[in-house]
Amino acid sequence: MNAKIVLLPGDGIGPEVIREAEAVLRHIATKFGHTFTFSSHMIGGCAIDATGSALPDETLAACREADAVLLGAVGGPKWDDPKAKTRPEAGLLKIRKELGLYANLRPITTFDCLLDSSPLKRNIIEGTDILFFRELTGGLYFGKSGLEQNADGSETAYSTMTYSTHEIERIVRMAAQAAMKRRKKLTMVDKANVLEASRLWRRVSERVVKTEFPELAYDVVLVDSMAMHLISRPATFDVVVTENMFGDILTDEGSMLPGSLGLLPSASLGEPGPGLYEPIHGSAPDIAGKGLANPLATILAAAMLLRHSLNLSEEAAAIEAAVTSVLNSGHRTKDIAQKGQTSISTTEMGQLVLKAL
Ligand code: NAD
Repeated sequence: MNAKIVLLPGDGIGPEVIREAEAVLRHIATKFGHTFTFSSHMIGGCAIDATGSALPDETLAACREADAVLLGAVGGPKWDDPKAKTRPEAGLLKIRKELGLYANLRPITTFDCLLDSSPLKRNIIEGTDILFFRELTGGLYFGKSGLEQNADGSETAYSTMTYSTHEIERIVRMAAQAAMKRRKKLTMVDKANVLEASRLWRRVSERVVKTEFPELAYDVVLVDSMAMHLISRPATFDVVVTENMFGDILTDEGSMLPGSLGLLPSASLGEPGPGLYEPIHGSAPDIAGKGLANPLATILAAAMLLRHSLNLSEEAAAIEAAVTSVLNSGHRTKDIAQKGQTSISTTEMGQLVLKAL
């Protein structure tokens, strides 16, 4: 297959981890007989320095023409001035909006050899492999909001959770399709005992699943219960779909389970158009340029890119297996090394994944 992949290294450790992920993608292309064309563009703080914009037009145009986009991270103390005209994060928000990315995918997967790094007990976390679908462009964060002055001088503020049938259908369908390729289990999280918007989610979701995906095991869980289940029985979930704010909170709770930020990828998808893939960590300015960054989250984001944007599941699984095998052999970057264990550099970790492939 031929595919155009845009790389957006960004700031801090972004360029270091993207370099390793690019090498892995190039290796996959050779090994499986694909032609991937790469181009690298600026986003975030480095783009502000060079052009005054956190997302230059030229970067956006390249992304629109690509099959998929792989991003490192943006931001750092250099651009933190609250009085600055533009901030690196503006580039991220703009690219998500411009590409119409309405679904955020976050896998919460554990590695057996790292189970003891989790804040949860081994017997609870063991076997956890969840794929979250968080709705990204609707709900409370985008609904009508306002602040009103009351006659007694106090204030009243409101934010509204708004969803349309179409917005719910498209993400439930996407989550259900992913569940069909996994363990065929879908959980929808809402607050239908209180919120009207959740009651629409419940009706629409059930209709989509029952009519289009009758083979799926489907259940609904209230968001407050889900917050508990996620730490008491995480291994019982497969694919989970939910609205924007519930997903924001639950995915952050979930990201703590595997025990390291440096191992977790994410994807933002829309249709039609390219998906955006990135590690969930930031630009880690404290370790930038020192060769200490763990590249595995970005390498796993590259695997997600192959699976979700290019439909190359076998190639994605090969990368995931290579990462597991490197970790099982005991190799660790500093962030995941146990006390007294020697750690390896960003490049060494990348090279080991290539070797395992
Ligand atoms: P961070 O994720 O960058 O770092 C948190 C801690 O985790 C740091 O100690 C860092 O050294 C460590 N860490 C993160 N990624 C690592 C990796 N791959 N390997 C080893 N250690 C790793 O979060 P922060 O410190 O809150 O933010 C730093 C900057 O990143 C800020 O400017 C913030 O705005 C930005 N940020 C960007 C994104 C993004 O681009 N999507 C996300 C979060 C934060």
